[in-house]
Amino acid sequence: MSDYDTVSADVEHEEEIPADHPRYQDLLTRHRIETGIEKGITHLQGMHAEGRGSAFDYLLGEETIPSADGAERAAAAHLLLADQPVLSINGNVAALVPGEMVDLASAVDADLEVNLFNRTPERVKAIAEHLREHGADEVKGLTADARIPKLDHQRAKVDADGIYAADVVLVPLEDGDRAEALQEMDKTEIVIDLNPLSRSPQVAAVPIVDNIIRAVPNMTEHARDLADADEAELRSIVDEFDREQALEEAEARIRNGL
Ligand code: ATP
Repeated sequence: MSDYDTVSADVEHEEEIPADHPRYQDLLTRHRIETGIEKGITHLQGMHAEGRGSAFDYLLGEETIPSADGAERAAAAHLLLADQPVLSINGNVAALVPGEMVDLASAVDADLEVNLFNRTPERVKAIAEHLREHGADEVKGLTADARIPKLDHQRAKVDADGIYAADVVLVPLEDGDRAEALQEMDKTEIVIDLNPLSRSPQVAAVPIVDNIIRAVPNMTEHARDLADADEAELRSIVDEFDREQALEEAEARIRNGL
């Protein structure tokens, strides 16, 4: 048994996880989801979703592959070009990357909206509060005065001046039904999902097959790098991005290590 085998998932603070542990990112992710569940911001099912993601990340080599980096740059360009970009936050996203989502929103001038699969007023409020603790000024999703067509009542709830009106939406770790319904509303959809075969990345204009923990800070870096780019440059980055190729390259890495 190595020393590392004694680092269990029940550490109290994430600083206790050794940064040089070979599975550091996985332990950190698990710990953040557990803390999210304890704080009432993440649903218990979020741990199950995280487990699926973790298996794909293992096969990807737990790194941002070149096609994912290209997708993250294209996503940053889309968000900078947007009239009304919105970043959607669910319980797993809030637990894993709250400050990082606030930074991305500020880099691309986007709104943050709480958008939950298992929606309760308590969880929406707890997540909004959690985001404020991480620097967010305004958080949408509490009004829920509009509905995404073709979804059942609870899962369809969004803000009329938020996701409903957005032209570009980032929906990380989104469930397939909602990703499809948003796509049918003609929004430019950016999805972060470690499983390239999942329906959400399959319908996205920009599928990012990467761990959200790496993807969001990298998108912010690209957005800062492109802050002075003119519209023509941003459009050429968007046009050059090939979604089919990005999905194929991610699948090849997972299946064959290529
Ligand atoms: P579908 O989109 O077809 O409904 P699903 O039922 O697997 O697929 P969900 O359970 O709603 O989808 O969402 C979980 C998804 O999030 C999984 O595809 C999983 O790979 C992905 N995922 C989990 N954790 C992460 C993470 N940290 N970073 C990126 N993706 C993740």
